[in-house]
Amino acid sequence: MRIATPAFLIVAVLLLPGCGEPAPEGATVIHAARLYTAPDREPVDDAVVLIVDGRIAAAGPSAKISTRGAAALEQCDGGTVVAGFQNSHVHFIDPRFDEAASKPAEELTAALDDMLNRYGFTTVVDTASNLANTASLRNRIDAGEIPGPRILTAGGALYPRNGIPIYLRDLPPEILATLSQPGSVEEALPIVQANLDGGADATKLFLMTPQGGGRYAFMQPEIALAAADETHRRGLLVLAHPTDIEGINLAIEAGVDVLVHTTIGEGRTIWEPALIEQMVSKNLAVVPTLQLCPYELNRAGLEPRIVELATADAVEQVRAFAKAGGQVLFGTDVGYMSEYDPAEEYRLMARALSPVEILASLTTAPASRWKEEARRGRIDAGLDADLVVLEADPAGDAANFAKVRCTIRGGRLIHGRKGG
Ligand SMILES: [Zn+2]
Repeated sequence: MRIATPAFLIVAVLLLPGCGEPAPEGATVIHAARLYTAPDREPVDDAVVLIVDGRIAAAGPSAKISTRGAAALEQCDGGTVVAGFQNSHVHFIDPRFDEAASKPAEELTAALDDMLNRYGFTTVVDTASNLANTASLRNRIDAGEIPGPRILTAGGALYPRNGIPIYLRDLPPEILATLSQPGSVEEALPIVQANLDGGADATKLFLMTPQGGGRYAFMQPEIALAAADETHRRGLLVLAHPTDIEGINLAIEAGVDVLVHTTIGEGRTIWEPALIEQMVSKNLAVVPTLQLCPYELNRAGLEPRIVELATADAVEQVRAFAKAGGQVLFGTDVGYMSEYDPAEEYRLMARALSPVEILASLTTAPASRWKEEARRGRIDAGLDADLVVLEADPAGDAANFAKVRCTIRGGRLIHGRKGG
């Protein structure tokens, strides 16, 4: 005998969280108080993200997504969920990462967690380090042995002839000897090729470097151009350290893709509208590294008033560049900078950008710059399950971007608050 189920009962069952159709086999669910699927979309409250096989299976209002039977990640529930972050300027040069091929996994795990995992970074761009060592670290992360972010690396950088920057002079002589300072295109090309053949994802050029006493060394434009052409021929990106306006002009001439800093000088450093227009028309992206400005100038013992003026100039560069349509990529120079907490970077960025623009600089903008928007940057079905759970909504306070409860890369928890 068939008994008809009353319609109200069906509706009630479908509305109960965790009921309805069973979730796919092996699914994990995260409950979000608020979910930002992308910077350019309205947030959704009381939402869920369903993860299957390292990818996002569904994301949206909890009333509309069946999660019955899905495993819970309870310590991650109840926060603000956003896509995994990219830090577009880091370095694996701290001794804690030395001998990455053989160092015990727990030590590397602790070093990665302190510097990156705990701040939500699921992808990082290492803008200069020892390529073989960083590749070893990357291999162990990719093999699942060590929880950590995906690493894109520039490997060894190129410096101007006799142009090691003054702030690197204290490095041990055996490391200084490994820094490439080609004097001609013929010398430069094999260096670029060997670096990319060895697994680097980009080429990093120091175009203009301070030598002390107000003097600078410049990379010869034909070397920068040849290095950039060889890198582009392989479909890869060219990153550059500009130091000052003349360095930006060299970057524009060479066809550089990403400037890894804003510029701070001894006087005011204003990016004029004509310069910004050229940068935007050449599709040059900028990594602000704003926190580095007070970090360096305070270390140099400058007066607070001077530090604030220089910082305000860097903030204004970012504001004007973004307003003109320039692409901003979040980055801190952590690894060179010993301050790991990016909260101050977010506070400074908030003087130039809206919270939604900051979120874009962490997610969609870097995914697009690295031609991976089909794979990451948003929380959409089919994309990698790279997620960050924040303690509070960054729309109210940009420093909340640094208050990370959980970091999930490819569906795997790589940082999570202990004890629920
Ligand atoms: Zn750096």
